[in-house]
Order: sequence, then C-alpha cells, then structure tokens
Amino acid sequence: MKFVDEFREPELIIKVAEEIRRLVDPERQYRIMEVCGGHTHAIYRFGLKDVLPLNLELIHGPGCPVCVLPMGRIDDGLALAQDPNLIFAALGDMMRVPGTNGSPLEHKSCGVDVRIVYSPSDALKLARANPDKHVMFFAIGFETTAPSTALTLMRAKAEDIRNFSVFCNHVTIIPAIRAILDSPDMRIDAFIGPGHVSTVIGCRPYEWIARNEKRPVAVSGFEPLDILQSIVMVLRQLKAAEAKIENQYKRVVPWEGNHAALRAMADVFELRPYFEWRGLGFISQSALRIKDEYADWDSERRFQVPGVRVTDPKAAQCGEVLKGVLSPVQCKLFGKECTPEHPVGALMVSSEGSCAAYFHYEHRKAAMLTSISSTE
Ligand code: SF4
Repeated sequence: MKFVDEFREPELIIKVAEEIRRLVDPERQYRIMEVCGGHTHAIYRFGLKDVLPLNLELIHGPGCPVCVLPMGRIDDGLALAQDPNLIFAALGDMMRVPGTNGSPLEHKSCGVDVRIVYSPSDALKLARANPDKHVMFFAIGFETTAPSTALTLMRAKAEDIRNFSVFCNHVTIIPAIRAILDSPDMRIDAFIGPGHVSTVIGCRPYEWIARNEKRPVAVSGFEPLDILQSIVMVLRQLKAAEAKIENQYKRVVPWEGNHAALRAMADVFELRPYFEWRGLGFISQSALRIKDEYADWDSERRFQVPGVRVTDPKAAQCGEVLKGVLSPVQCKLFGKECTPEHPVGALMVSSEGSCAAYFHYEHRKAAMLTSISSTE
C-alpha cells in the first residue's frame, strides 16, 4: 500500500535504528517528547522502544485531546444532558471517558439520550432530523478537529438551525508545550512534533521552541520509519548543538498550514482567557470559545452550565503521566483498579491515551513473556 508499506520496511527500520545508535552519546541521557497521542500509540504498537538505545527515553506528551479534558467539563456536559428535551452527541472516543457519576455511555444506559456521531456535521444532521429536540455536540480536540466544528457552526447559522449548539472544549497545542517547558520538574531535550495538528497550523508556530528554548523539533508522520527518522533528525541537531524546526512529514504537512481551515477557525472561535487542562492546570489562552456572532449556537450561553470542578481520584496519577513525569506503569492503579475495561482515568480510554497504548501492547507483551518463561 503506497505511503504505508514503504514506511514499515524492516530493513530500512534496522538501518535507521543503527543510525540512531551511532548518533547517541553513550555518556548522556536523552529525553525526547512525542507530543501527539497518535505517536505514542504507534511507538507501542510497533515496539519502537525495543530498537532504541537504553539511554534514549521517549516521553509521552499531552497531545491526546480526550485525556487532557478535566472531569468537570464532562460532568458539565452530562448535567445538561439530563434535560429530556436534549440529545447529547459526541464522538465515539468520548463515550467511555469517566465523569464523576459515570461515562456518557453509562448515562445512556440509565436513559439519558446520548448519541455517538462520526463528525460535528452528523450532529447537525441529527438536529435537522429531530426538530422537537435540542442537539448539543460535545466538541473536543486540538486544531485538527476544530475546523470541522467551525464549519458546522457556520452551516448551522447559514441554515438558521436553532435546535443545535456546540459545547466547545477545543484546545490549542502551543500553550500546552509552553506549559511543559515551563514546568520545573520536566527536562525535555527535543520534541517529535504532532503530525495531525500540524496539517492545520503548519510548522511556523513551533519556531519559538527552537529560537527561545533551544530545543530541536521534528514534525513527524505516524509510521515506524517516520518516527525513527524524526528521532534521527533531532539527534543530529543535538549532536551539532543546533535547534531548528524540521518537517519530516512533508508529504502531508504544509509549512504554512492549511489557510482555509485556519480561516474557518478564526471566523468562528476566539481564545479563552484561560482553560483548565487535566494534569497541567489552568493555562492562559490555551482553548477556544465561540465568538459572539455564533452565541445562539453556543451551549455554554444557551444553557445554565453548572461549572463543575472536580479533582481526579487521589490515587490516580493521570496528571503526572500526562506531563511525562511518570510512565503509565508507575501509576499505582495501572493494570489493577484501572484497565481498559474499567478505566479510572481518560488515558486508559482513548486509543491515543498513553496508559491504554501501554496496556494494549507493552503490558500484554510483558505478561506473555512471563508466561512463556514460566512454562520453560
Ligand atoms: S493507570 Fe489509570 S489512573 Fe493511572 S494514570 Fe493511567 S489512566 Fe490515570
């Protein structure tokens, strides 16, 4: 399959892994953060850690949109969903994310009208099909998904569909990276830049990371060779004491971003003064809200939102895992109270969550190896 098979070619992977081993200084520890949850998933799925030198650590970043959403926002959305005249519509990824009194799916099993949609425009279709109900689309995601929410709001306004609104939880990636770099307990040498978000924002917004923070960045694709090549790129820079932004994912990411998508976002959204992130706390200008021109389609203005603030269960260490301070397996609940079947935190739910990725691939591999060695 073009653009997939050639990026999984075993001989090339071995060659690039050798190049990585040649580039690392055995006397030094390397901490490279992959910002995007899609990269975390690929790293575990393809066992890439196994081909990296032991002194090169990959740190999982905050790029999983479901994982960074604080529980209070889920509770707020589900509180509005108690209205029998309201349909709560969200993408499938949201359905099993725990709120204080259960996930959207658990609310559905108790009779709340919760629907899975595949896109915001599907939620708008639902509104057209149910004129006697109000459809609230619970929007999450980074700049990758915000443009489609923006276009749906434009369409709702153009068609004057009044029984539709968006509960907006869209966040932006740059302030989160800034918060991580400002965090006193973090030391990151370089970044594997997010591939999906960059298809919209391009590479320019990362330039301050090289200029001010002197950290190399390689915006990366999601196949094994993409990620390994990106590691080579940042290692070469570290070896040469350079810091610049490189675009490994040129086949998809335009340096200047997607102008049409950026324009749609700018027409519909503006920055919130601050927004709470799970694990990272309040970050200024890190999330989007709906502009006044679209106030009639903004759930937060159409309804009385409780504004719930809850802290995660005490033993759950989602925040530390999200910041890359702990690895998933270092959380006391990992694989015991918290599993994909019974998740305590969102990182165990989303396919992009590092705990779920670690559980599905590394944890099972370790369990398999233990059972093989105990039968030998
Ligand atoms: S194992 Fe569960 S509780 Fe612990 S960090 Fe991961 S998602 Fe959170």
